[in-house]
Amino acid sequence: MHEVSLVESIVTALEKMMEEEGWTQISEVRLRIGVLRQVNPEILSFAFETVTKGTPLEGARLFVTDVPLEYRCRECGQMWGEEDGLCPACGSPSRETLAGMELEIESLEVEENP
Ligand SMILES: [Zn+2]
Repeated sequence: MHEVSLVESIVTALEKMMEEEGWTQISEVRLRIGVLRQVNPEILSFAFETVTKGTPLEGARLFVTDVPLEYRCRECGQMWGEEDGLCPACGSPSRETLAGMELEIESLEVEENP
């Protein structure tokens, strides 16, 4: 259940932002999460509900955008998105991960102090 610790770190960051920015409430949270994080969306929203209970974030809607995998071959520059594959163009195992490890807050909907 690494979703819980993931949610806890996001909620901590959001509470800090609320305090700094003077927001009274956050009504919507959108996250971008890379597929390599292996997050189960159902467990994630359950964890979010549990962790935000009794906080100003309680009742906020949570949306998650999956970020697909993207590799680039270090030999020839070919890009592809399948896990555990060799480069489909030249067969090289040398690759860098361009996308798939994201864990970001994409956008928020907030209520501010008047
Ligand atoms: Zn290649």
